[in-house]
Amino acid sequence: MKKTKSTKPRKPRKSAKKDSKKSKDYFANSVSAKVEVKRAVSGLGLFSAEPLKKGDFVIEYKGTPMTFEEAEYHPGKYLFEISTRVTINGASRNNTARYINHSCKPNCDPDVKKGRVLIFTTRAIKKGEEFTYDYGKEYFDQFLKPGGCKCPACLSKSKSKSK
Ligand SMILES: [Zn+2]
Repeated sequence: MKKTKSTKPRKPRKSAKKDSKKSKDYFANSVSAKVEVKRAVSGLGLFSAEPLKKGDFVIEYKGTPMTFEEAEYHPGKYLFEISTRVTINGASRNNTARYINHSCKPNCDPDVKKGRVLIFTTRAIKKGEEFTYDYGKEYFDQFLKPGGCKCPACLSKSKSKSK
């Protein structure tokens, strides 16, 4: 993966939209969807092993909570900011959700509930389809913009442009 030379002091991290209005009781039936880790366009990705409906729970982004200050000095791309004070470090291998790639036209959306990051579909998903969500502007600007975003939406855009 490309290293950036930016000296910006603030570490980029993924973030969810703060004011989610979803009100379902996720914890009552928070069984993860059937997923598989497979080769994606760039590196590995997380794919659905079953058809899903819009709004279905996919998986939890699991990790160790860190304070804002700890996260500032922590290397890695698996930081997920859940509030201005707490960031989850999801670098652990048992965090299967870390395989979900960024897309500018995603089919999932992370929702922060009681300090947990839960990922839901935003539309129906076919069996074998790759899960994606928007990593947020900060992450995009730091890690994706410099080399050009390689998400499926951007790739198909640049393909149709070069025709
Ligand atoms: Zn993109």
